[in-house]
Amino acid sequence: MILKEGVRTLGVSRELIIAFIIVNEVFRYFDYQFVVTSITDSKHSYKSLHYSGNAFDLRTRHIKDSKIIETIVNVIKERLGKDYDVVLEPDHIHIEYQPVF
Ligand SMILES: [Zn+2]
Repeated sequence: MILKEGVRTLGVSRELIIAFIIVNEVFRYFDYQFVVTSITDSKHSYKSLHYSGNAFDLRTRHIKDSKIIETIVNVIKERLGKDYDVVLEPDHIHIEYQPVF
């Protein structure tokens, strides 16, 4: 796992750290670098879970095959389960911890 320069880790939730471990395993399996591009830094939407340390973004641009990106997203979704949302954006994957009770 690599933190892009400028990524702020202050206030990251324990639940997100569990997600880092799992996502790291998935990227290692597919043999791609796992690069976190944002956690509590940067501008996000008004109610974004980034600000509370419950969301992060990761890089996809180094994966040229969009089918592999989709597969990675599906594997991550399956492994993180229903308490996490995994969203494939045009230039990154957004993952947030948002449990449903
Ligand atoms: Zn995000």
